[in-house]
Amino acid sequence: MPDHSRADRLEAFRQEVRSFLREVVPPDIRAASRAHCLVTREQAVRWQRILHARGWAAPGWPREYGGPGWSLVEQAIFREELAASDAPRYDNLGIDTIGPTLIRYGTPEQCRRFLPGMLSFDDFWAQGYSEPDAGSDLASLRTVARRDGDEWVVNGSKIWQTLGQWANWALVLVRTDPSARRKQEGISVLLMDLRTPGVTVRPIRFINGAHFHVQMFFDDVRVPAANLVGVEHAGWSIAKGLLVIERLFVARVGDCKAELASVAKLAGKWRPGPGAQIDDALLARRHAELDIRMRALEAAWWPAVRFAEQGGSPELEASLLKLDGNLLLQDLHTFKLDALGARTLPFDPRAIDGEPSPEPLSPGHAENFPLHYWRYRGITLAGGSSEIQRQIVAKAVFGGLTEIDRPRQDQMDEQQAIMDGTLRRWLDKHYGFERRRETVAARDGFDPAAWAALAELGLTGLLIPECDGGLGGTLSDLMPLLEALGEALVVEPMLWSAVLGTQVLLGAENAEGREPLLAALASGQARCALAYREGQSRRDVHHPETVARWDGAHWRLHGVNRLVMGAAQAQHLFVTACLPEGGLALFDVPSQAAGVGLRAYQLHDGRSAADIRFDNVELPASALLCGADHATALLDDALELATLALCAESIGAMRRSLALTVEYMRMRKQFGRTLSEQQVLQHRVADHYRGWHAARQLVREAVAGWSLVPPAERSRRVSAAKYMVGHASRVLALDALQLHGAIGMQDETPISHYSKRLMANDALLGNASAHLGRFVDADHRSQA
Ligand SMILES: Cc1cc2nc3c(=O)[nH]c(=O)nc-3n(C[C@H](O)[C@H](O)[C@H](O)COP(=O)(O)OP(=O)(O)OC[C@H]3O[C@@H](n4cnc5c(N)ncnc54)[C@H](O)[C@@H]3O)c2cc1C
Repeated sequence: MPDHSRADRLEAFRQEVRSFLREVVPPDIRAASRAHCLVTREQAVRWQRILHARGWAAPGWPREYGGPGWSLVEQAIFREELAASDAPRYDNLGIDTIGPTLIRYGTPEQCRRFLPGMLSFDDFWAQGYSEPDAGSDLASLRTVARRDGDEWVVNGSKIWQTLGQWANWALVLVRTDPSARRKQEGISVLLMDLRTPGVTVRPIRFINGAHFHVQMFFDDVRVPAANLVGVEHAGWSIAKGLLVIERLFVARVGDCKAELASVAKLAGKWRPGPGAQIDDALLARRHAELDIRMRALEAAWWPAVRFAEQGGSPELEASLLKLDGNLLLQDLHTFKLDALGARTLPFDPRAIDGEPSPEPLSPGHAENFPLHYWRYRGITLAGGSSEIQRQIVAKAVFGGLTEIDRPRQDQMDEQQAIMDGTLRRWLDKHYGFERRRETVAARDGFDPAAWAALAELGLTGLLIPECDGGLGGTLSDLMPLLEALGEALVVEPMLWSAVLGTQVLLGAENAEGREPLLAALASGQARCALAYREGQSRRDVHHPETVARWDGAHWRLHGVNRLVMGAAQAQHLFVTACLPEGGLALFDVPSQAAGVGLRAYQLHDGRSAADIRFDNVELPASALLCGADHATALLDDALELATLALCAESIGAMRRSLALTVEYMRMRKQFGRTLSEQQVLQHRVADHYRGWHAARQLVREAVAGWSLVPPAERSRRVSAAKYMVGHASRVLALDALQLHGAIGMQDETPISHYSKRLMANDALLGNASAHLGRFVDADHRSQA
């Protein structure tokens, strides 16, 4: 049950933050933000003090340390609103990482002494981790600290400290035991006053011309022993403690959202101006892709935040989010660059010092765009580069620590988990690879015994109400089962009969008297298929090649409906036909009726379909399921539901495809080591996992919102999911073959069948490209 009171409270909180931010940003700072200037230290101090006065200076800190004591979800909302406002945007590592480190590992005295200054900006802190010769391999750091009485004596250098030129304090990682066996041992954390003799700070001019970073040199710098954080020589665990929670926020979801909104404002301006490089239609599609990636990011983000809030440690999710969020933010900027072309080039250096240009440098130019474009290129390096995040993901995938190896049932209720478990056990035992191959080869893709068993397990009646002999289940009940069917590459037409066909019958206007049919469908004794015009666009779907005419006593059908999935096994065909006066109607046609000619064939992945010819098929008035008023809407609804169901099936097939690929790579040796030990291959698999994860989150989101969101948004969510699933599954399908080498190309190897199924699923019910187009159209309609 959704907790409405909590949702209301969070919404009220969001509004409170929003109106506060709207009111308190000083006009000069607002103007500078709107002109995309960088933030000056003076502006940052003023802003921090405004937040401090409100008690909001450190969103992640508990109350007893001067923070607001917000939950993680509240922190996420605050950051999102901050990014969307005209407040200054800069990285305050004291507040975001060093303060929380002190709260967790520091002494009460250190907290008392240092935290208030961070809150008020009397002190600004730098994070001294990287060194000229220790970047990604941070543990190889060489800055040393030798104990001398009550002091540490520090020598060495740190580099790339963000906003180090503003800082008067730094948290510094130093080697305190050079004789330690492992490089991760013998490291300690010190708090260093940068005004101490022996400290030299040299600003580094960044690629965008600004001074964002510094290099620090330490020459016999004396640090009081009391400034050691945690245990001597055991600082590595603290160093790694950009804690999971902080890493979640480094994904910059709020910044991505704000940037997407800013990019969306350009949408109306996509008339190619001087210097614009590409045309409107292409821009609209690229924008839609970014929008869908944003949806996927959010769909993964909130569950991870909630999981962390409940005490979980979403480490893998944090890496996935950082990868996806940072790449998305960069791609949003690149998109802007492409959309605005040469108008992005003019640059007023005064923006570095927080000063908006008094008048535009060049009319219509994208103000100070290069400052931010170059700035955000660094985010895929900072805080653990994208390559390092891929390494973390790959380690989890190849180490058997992801859902690739163990399906997680935590999204299911008890009843769903029981059904899922029972189905999976049955599939493992009775639907092995060889058995399936036999079905495909000898029985044209249909095994009556398998169908009966699946019906026995409740699948055929899942969506049918209990009063009609079904289980009265929901879309959420159905999805895990379809994932399991996809994992086993089940060829029997469960989706086409028990989901698509049944859904049409359930929604039909004139369904009275069809209780016996529903009961027969629920029990698995009968099967149905929707005979519509399969095509990439809804235009095709709404204009079948079959026409229906009323001759005064009967309906008469003429024409052909092609590529009807499940038709070869169906006793009832629900046929879409055009009416002479315009519009669409749906008919219930027995597959054995006179004049119905069915030509069945197999698809390249082993499933069966048929073209159905209707040659003056005579039907009684009662055969009309739905007339022109409702047929189109009914058809669209049923197709949308089936599209999500197909996505779930692909998600299952993708999961197994990944599992098979990982298993093969763990075993196959070349050049004296397994493929799974080759980093270039590991990273590809990490990206496939990322694609699978993002696609699955979008499918889950569409399912969760199915009956809650307005129809237009529902359609958008379905198209976003089908696009993402199609895109990710095609990339995986083809690369899984490549990663298997030649053995993947043979029919005997299971992976070849997964690849064919995934490619075929993309082509059905509108492929990725068609759904991207639908997403764009839906957007344009909503803006019109
Ligand atoms: C915007 C920005 C802000 C920063 N802020 C701070 C800060 O406040 N404090 C601080 O201490 N440091 C900071 N850094 C430094 C940052 O932590 C390092 O840039 C980062 O750790 C990478 O190290 P490196 O630059 O030396 O690159 P290298 O480690 O030399 O890596 C070069 C390239 O090789 C890749 N690579 C390295 N090792 C591997 C591997 N094993 N497998 C695959 N690929 C690999 C990297 O991903 C990168 O693409 C910041 C950097 C940037 C860009």
